[in-house]
Amino acid sequence: MRYVKDLACIKCGLQYSPDSSCYLCSCGGLLEVRYDYDLLRLEWDRDSLAENSDFSMWRYLPLLPVGPFSKRSPLHIGWTPVYKSSALAKAIGLQRPVWVKDEGLNPTGSLKDRASAVAVVKAVEAAATTVACSSSGNAASSLAGNIAAMGGSMQAVTFVPARAPQGKIAQILIYGAKVISVQGSYREAFELSVATIERWGWYNGNAAINPYLIEGKKTAVLELAEQLNWQMPDWLVLPVGDGCTIAGAGKALRELKELGFIDKIPRLLGVQAAGCAPIYLAFSTGNELMPAEENTLADSIAAGVPRNPLKAIKEIQSSNGFMVAVEDEEILEALRLMGRTCGIFAEPSSAAGLAGLARAVRQGLLAADSEVALISTGNGLKDVASALKAASHPLRVLPDIHRLSAVVEEK
Ligand SMILES: *Cc1c(COP(=O)(O)O)cnc(C)c1O
Ligand SMILES: [Zn+2]
Repeated sequence: MRYVKDLACIKCGLQYSPDSSCYLCSCGGLLEVRYDYDLLRLEWDRDSLAENSDFSMWRYLPLLPVGPFSKRSPLHIGWTPVYKSSALAKAIGLQRPVWVKDEGLNPTGSLKDRASAVAVVKAVEAAATTVACSSSGNAASSLAGNIAAMGGSMQAVTFVPARAPQGKIAQILIYGAKVISVQGSYREAFELSVATIERWGWYNGNAAINPYLIEGKKTAVLELAEQLNWQMPDWLVLPVGDGCTIAGAGKALRELKELGFIDKIPRLLGVQAAGCAPIYLAFSTGNELMPAEENTLADSIAAGVPRNPLKAIKEIQSSNGFMVAVEDEEILEALRLMGRTCGIFAEPSSAAGLAGLARAVRQGLLAADSEVALISTGNGLKDVASALKAASHPLRVLPDIHRLSAVVEEK
């Protein structure tokens, strides 16, 4: 907390003190955490960071709204691997290897753990015992896991739309959290969660409202930058639902540049599913954001009324990036491709990033000699039903070598 300067409204600019307990500005605008970058520059640099032996998201504590002695979830979050894949690059027509960071290896299987970990710390600081959020599934299972790891002192209540994949529901229940399965869309689950949180005074763990959660998401990109030895690629690709993840990525890059850790900001490529692309449409037409149907198997990015379009669009624009939308067939193709060329099993929303990259290269929007980093945001085991739609069938045989050779010869 030493470096947190204030919380500023992204709409009207009003500033709040770091220990104010509001989530939103009085004008309804979202707040953004700002740090004292001058002080940070004096006290924190790449060398002091390199000496830090904590290989988790907490190694970036100076850029997090969390005190050094605050109680945290003991789950090990972050320092996920970054792979360099020539095979993947080749398959989509890029000349240089693609960097792929596998966030599906976090404790609950998605990048959301980075946000949930911060939510838990802030809830403890606020002396809350119940934390609630709405989610298409990953934020909920992540909050549930991180709360469970606190050892029974806190409880999670999660609101998920009826369509949430079974794997994610199973996770939430196994972690012992309450699941309220809202017979409606993500939008409706979100609205019900907000009303319920208000009524019972729970801690609000919705990333799109609570400004601290984006700070956690940001660490994926702080980490990527360090893992790439501060040599930034030309492009950074991310799937976009509510917009918090890409907004956090943009903020991380701006802050690293401000602090002199990097000297170039990669252009952001934001990818939505064509079946639910309200931010893409607003971005590419310049029109007001219109609510959309949630009609895609990429459930984690199906946000018909996205909660963070402003921050997302601002960050993509200021990076000189752009957005694309991809069909579900392209997503399934990318899911297979990621599996075959990288050995990474991604969930559809995660593979959407790759699908968008492939489309951007195909359409000549992104030069074939670009250096690209891709963040795979979630694990494929969460949604096996969708993966099976992308997969071929196993070879069925009776347990007999002669039958097997007959089948093989037939093929
Ligand atoms: C949440 C999520 C995203 C998108 O994040 P937003 O902040 O909603 O834009 C992408 N992929 C996965 C796997 C997610 O869980
Ligand atoms: Zn305001």
